Amino acid sequence: MASPRDGLEAEETEESASRRGSSGVEVVFPSDPAVSAPLCPHGPTLLFVKVSQGKEETRRFYACSACRDRKDCNFFQWEDEKLSEARLAARETHNRRCQPPLSRRQCVERYLKFIELPLSQRKFCQRCQQLLLPDEWGRHREHQVMGDISITQLRRPSQLLYPLENKKANAQYLFADRSCQFLVDLLSTLGFRRVLCVGTPRLHELIMLTASGDKKSNIKSLLLDIDFRYSQFYMEDSFCHYNMFNHHFFDGKAALEVCRAFLQEDEGEGVIMVTDPPFGGLVEPLAVTFKKLIAMWKEGQSQDNSHKELPIFWIFPYFFESRICQFFPSFCMLDYQVDYDNHALYKHGKTGRKQSPVRIFTNVPRNKIILPTEEGYRFCPLCQRYVSLENQHCEHCNSCTSKDGRKWNHCFLCKKCVKPSWIHCSICSRCALPGHSCEGPKDGCFICGELDHKRSTCPNIATSKRANRAVRKQKQRKSNKMKMETTKGQSMNHTSVTRKKKRRERAHQYLCS
Ligand code: SAH
Ligand code: ZN
Ligand code: ZN
Ligand code: ZN
Ligand code: ZN
Repeated sequence: MASPRDGLEAEETEESASRRGSSGVEVVFPSDPAVSAPLCPHGPTLLFVKVSQGKEETRRFYACSACRDRKDCNFFQWEDEKLSEARLAARETHNRRCQPPLSRRQCVERYLKFIELPLSQRKFCQRCQQLLLPDEWGRHREHQVMGDISITQLRRPSQLLYPLENKKANAQYLFADRSCQFLVDLLSTLGFRRVLCVGTPRLHELIMLTASGDKKSNIKSLLLDIDFRYSQFYMEDSFCHYNMFNHHFFDGKAALEVCRAFLQEDEGEGVIMVTDPPFGGLVEPLAVTFKKLIAMWKEGQSQDNSHKELPIFWIFPYFFESRICQFFPSFCMLDYQVDYDNHALYKHGKTGRKQSPVRIFTNVPRNKIILPTEEGYRFCPLCQRYVSLENQHCEHCNSCTSKDGRKWNHCFLCKKCVKPSWIHCSICSRCALPGHSCEGPKDGCFICGELDHKRSTCPNIATSKRANRAVRKQKQRKSNKMKMETTKGQSMNHTSVTRKKKRRERAHQYLCS
């Protein structure tokens, strides 16, 4: 095996850039769990510390776990701040007011009423992102409303709803059909009977569709997602309104129990968790959450199974490999490139500009996972796993070392394989881009992760801007069609006040270098 540090410096830098976020903020987990964090509308807040030039400032503060942008959730409290009774009461009122207008139960009742309606009366308000019952039509008369909502459409909510495009909170990047189908087929081939979908609404719906169409592969699925709009389409046992950055169930204990029962069914046999978190999110709080879900699954195990792990697919960019493996040492990264529908950069083939940097991290043994040869993967008999066609086996590293799907070159001085664009620098004693400034800024570029320049001088910035412009144009066209603003109190899309300006923001700063 190659050393685990193989070729990862640039990626670590890229990742540390994203961890800091543009505001230079890191999350801290207090050593004393008895100190409970104050609550925002999205559940317990996280404790953050500002970091400037590698140094932590001493004063720490609580902020929203889900919304990285103050405009979406403006919760702020210094760690040592004492709040008056009045302010605490006001906060509680605010938190309550921000909760969805309907309970889970009420949503289910609405859905049941809705599917009883004749086709001609089944309407969906695109502006409010809401299924309408006849007595509500009047209120949406001025809105763009779709009619004749078929059962097929109801079963594909990810196609009915527009993807949320908020950069820092719940950016939604939906799987391209072939990636989604690949995942469903893989899960079924691996023999899983239950899938806990954490932030994967499109996968959830495809599993449900496949199950209803084919009684043989009756895989069950439970979706946990912060996007409340999905609660209109699912029963209580297949959707929970959930925040994956703090393991918060918005509908309290009842929802937690749904999740627990799902994980613990059949003594926990046959279940897998699949997650595709927003990439702008922080890895550590996600890892903490996933460990809580793992613990929940473990509680349902009989004693002799205690060495077993909950199978997990964590879908995330390849340059987070070291970070993810730090929290989950048993995880491996697969070469499979996950493609997205609404991401101009990460789409496959002609329309997509680049190869997708998004991979699957998993504790399912790699030799059990067959990647499609027709999509450009091959089996490496030496590594005993499927790899990208261009990922060549390096006899010195004794492994297929490429992380990004291109052919990497072995450097005898570094004793490892490096990106094809790198050359060995005798001053830095390591490989780097030609033309880098030796011992240059350690933090690297936020856009491409290279060490020799900052974001403002990144050679990729033009392409990144161009791509963004293309996406923006496409969006504007769409948004001109349906001007959506959040209507207080009755709207389903309360989780994200999708301001027009926001929509123009891009969710991924990452580009492959
Ligand atoms: N590729 C997936 C979607 C991934 S996009 C698919 O096609 O199914 C990220 C998903 O995570 C979105 O559905 C978004 O609503 C959800 N999400 C974002 N922030 C979240 C949070 N704090 N808690 C739970 N889910 C969140
Ligand atoms: Zn919040
Ligand atoms: Zn409306
Ligand atoms: Zn090598
Ligand atoms: Zn080198």
